[in-house]
Amino acid sequence: MRELPIMPPAGALIDGRWVDTAETLMVEAPASAEPLARIGRGGEAEIDAAVAAARRAFDGETGSWPAWPARRRGEWLSAFADAIEADAETLAALECADTGKPISQARADIAACARYFRFYAGGADKLHGETIPFETDYAVMTLREPFGVCAQIIPWNYPSQIFGRCVAAALAAGNTVVLKPAEDACLSVLHLATLASRTELPPGVLNVVPGLGREAGAALAAHPGIDHLSFTGSPETGTRVNQAAAEHHVPVTLELGGKSPQLVFADADLDAALPAVLRGIIQNAGQTCSAGSRLLVEAACFDEVVARLSDQFSALRCDEGERDADCGPLINGRQRELLETRLAAAKADGIRVAAAGQLAPGAPESGYFVVPQLLVDVPDGHAVTREELFGPVLVVQSFDSEADALRLANATDFGLCAGVWTRDGGRQLRLAKGIRSGQVFVNNYGAAGGVELPFGGVGRSGHGREKGFEGLKSYTRLKTVAIRHG
Ligand code: NAD
Repeated sequence: MRELPIMPPAGALIDGRWVDTAETLMVEAPASAEPLARIGRGGEAEIDAAVAAARRAFDGETGSWPAWPARRRGEWLSAFADAIEADAETLAALECADTGKPISQARADIAACARYFRFYAGGADKLHGETIPFETDYAVMTLREPFGVCAQIIPWNYPSQIFGRCVAAALAAGNTVVLKPAEDACLSVLHLATLASRTELPPGVLNVVPGLGREAGAALAAHPGIDHLSFTGSPETGTRVNQAAAEHHVPVTLELGGKSPQLVFADADLDAALPAVLRGIIQNAGQTCSAGSRLLVEAACFDEVVARLSDQFSALRCDEGERDADCGPLINGRQRELLETRLAAAKADGIRVAAAGQLAPGAPESGYFVVPQLLVDVPDGHAVTREELFGPVLVVQSFDSEADALRLANATDFGLCAGVWTRDGGRQLRLAKGIRSGQVFVNNYGAAGGVELPFGGVGRSGHGREKGFEGLKSYTRLKTVAIRHG
């Protein structure tokens, strides 16, 4: 096994204590396919115990988190952000080894995780309802109340960031949480859970049950004791958990990835656009729900854009995360095989690789690397323009007019993000309104992660919003109180 700075417990955090699970799972390092750590393999029994603990913590038997004054909950979140920052190097090393991502990216993810806790710490005591003018002998108000027990199922691509995004908002609003991290990468999440368990957080407020999706995940989504479900992952699993939650009329937030376009017009500042286009697909080896995985370029600058990007793609190097190259490996053999199969089918259909990166000298040959690739000669409507490839592969197409650009941008079932690069103000606004997606970035892409900015999808990308103040509100339900005072 590789050397880790700390070995997180191979169990589940339930009711403030780490408990052993009947079985464990071996996690491998994607950069070398070597064994990395053992994690707990929770199932129905652990999920039952965790939901019961979260219920007690919500209802008052073990400290009643929602009864803490909002300001005090905010103070806890802020202190927890300090604890994350104090242990940032350990957390980043775990995230880097476990996901394979470059260490500088892992450090940025831990910093973002702490920012979520700090952002929602400030929001906890500003989450107020409204008063509503009604008949003169009434006073009417709305109260924002926590749901109760929030179930959270998160993926392996950004474990610490998505932990921060979901857990910080849910706790700030006064909910308790049962979180099921992904079996492929959850070591940073397990260490975050350990850090939380060392604080004054009442037992049962935060429970973390690792395990397989079809076991712990399915048991959590179908549990009659949960009051809200937040899921981030694939559209197929999203449908399954949505159906399971519907059995008990549990409200669901789904964040299911995308096929996000970046539109580059001939009047754009290419020196600003092209590095952002590259970052938008290379970050985390393209395994990012909001990756800018389609590039739509105005015909007048198509050759120049492809030539400049080809130079940049050819210079990219893949290596294990600790060596901090441009790109790490994919998460596992299954994802690599899936991507390679899709790339082979694309090439058989005449799609051409205009440029590709390389493995860095000395990169482990056993790792799940796929080198970054720039695909051109892509026919309209081909599978690579519609399906999430979840790898460092940028698909380039050209357009002749603004209308054509909009048509191509909207030619998928997904709708998570889009980037628009143009100096024309009217066009910026027309496209921002016309593109079917949850976020549109003009002359930037991703707003540096945008902890403050509401995020979520349209269509196959899911529904509901996380991040920002909207994300905090989405962890509450509204109650209307009408008082007739005579
Ligand atoms: P997945 O959707 O199956 O897994 C995401 C989470 O759901 C994990 O915690 C997993 O354990 C859990 N899960 C799996 N099956 C479950 C079930 N039946 N009930 C409840 N929970 C379950 O994703 P994956 O198989 O790891 O990856 C497949 C594809 O999903 C990728 O190629 C990519 O396209 C997409 N993906 C998207 C995101 C994103 O951020 N939107 C993240 C990861 C993967």
